[in-house]
Amino acid sequence: MAYDTENVFAKVLRGEIPCAKVYEDDYAFAFDDINPQAPIHVLVIPKGPYQSIDDFSANGSDAEISGFFRAVGAVARKLKLAKPGYRILANHGADGMQEVPHFHIHIFGGKKLGAMLRRNG
Ligand code: AMP
Repeated sequence: MAYDTENVFAKVLRGEIPCAKVYEDDYAFAFDDINPQAPIHVLVIPKGPYQSIDDFSANGSDAEISGFFRAVGAVARKLKLAKPGYRILANHGADGMQEVPHFHIHIFGGKKLGAMLRRNG
């Protein structure tokens, strides 16, 4: 399946949809999740057109992958989460229940986050 250039995060990257921007560099863009699941809930997305972690890990260049993951750490440090701690998460595909088909990592923080998965989810 081809990358959907009209997905919501592609529109955020092009500036067609507003967002609360947290961070940007050559490889990554980060912004607040519109429906936060924790006191801090930020999404980090690569600038390239990758559908999910599966696509990005298979087809991203070494520079894109290292640049992106360095950005994830930089965002967490910018949010002052390195010391208290945080959680990152990426959904892929149907079982992962990914909603937006542009690869993104969620960063959650700002409280003790509890169990990793809801037991009845
Ligand atoms: P996922 O289920 O991993 O694909 O997560 C998609 C996330 O994108 C959800 O947490 C949504 O709340 C979030 N989201 C959807 N649209 C927007 C938007 N326009 N700005 C910020 N976050 C969004």
